[in-house]
Amino acid sequence: MVEVRCIKHIYPDNTQVALCGLDFVVHSGERVVILGPNGAGKTTLLSHILGLLAPVEGSVKVMGLQPHKHFRQVRRNIGVVFQNVDEQIIGPTVYDDIAFTPRNERLGREEVERRVMAVAKRIGIQDILHKIPHYLSGGQKKKVALAGAIAMSPKLLILDEPFDGLDPASKREMMDLLNQLNRENGTTLIVTTHDVNLVPYIADTVYVIYDGKIVTKGSPYEVFIQR
Ligand code: ADP
Ligand code: ADP
Repeated sequence: MVEVRCIKHIYPDNTQVALCGLDFVVHSGERVVILGPNGAGKTTLLSHILGLLAPVEGSVKVMGLQPHKHFRQVRRNIGVVFQNVDEQIIGPTVYDDIAFTPRNERLGREEVERRVMAVAKRIGIQDILHKIPHYLSGGQKKKVALAGAIAMSPKLLILDEPFDGLDPASKREMMDLLNQLNRENGTTLIVTTHDVNLVPYIADTVYVIYDGKIVTKGSPYEVFIQR
């Protein structure tokens, strides 16, 4: 599904190497967590997978394609929840926000409505479809962003710090939703977090990254218990 080979990234205005020879493979249906403190390089890695950055050294492939070269084709298969959902939620109502990508893909009005209603039901936000996103709680906003991300049934779902700023109950709900999508639809998950406590609940494989390098990888059991 995703293949990152020996990728290196240096931001022009930063002397520190953001990613340093990172190797990273994600298989179809796998739940992968990228764990690391702030500044470790998590968002930079996701930006390469999403085709928002181009590697200077190394290569990135998503379903066999280079994301920065085949941007639209690759992005069609990826649902994304960015760390700052306020920048992502653009619809005047929750309904319109979830409908954004289906409308953009020129689906008919009925098909758009069918999809919006189906994902809203699945995520449990049917009651807030008419609301203005700006006034929702942090947890509700994350759910709206997730609903928008899965409206086109992507094979790969990428979430940058999806649990950040949520209360414990909302964290649990978000994890349950993601695990359900993985179990029932085979959706591949790539999730970043700095919260080590959540990893066992959401990961088949965890990559611990620090200073742009993978320092450990394995199942949560291998990484946290066996060592
Ligand atoms: P994380 O997502 O793990 O917090 P990032 O990928 O955002 O880490 O950052 C990795 C490194 O790259 C950090 O040293 C950060 O300061 C730097 N960095 C991130 N974005 C930029 C940018 N736009 N310009 C310059 N340096 C950046
Ligand atoms: P348009 O193509 O003009 O956007 P729509 O029928 O798609 O027309 O929607 C009109 C407005 O009604 C939308 O902006 C949306 O906020 C709201 N809306 C449409 N369908 C629903 C629905 N099933 N539940 C809640 N709000 C809806």
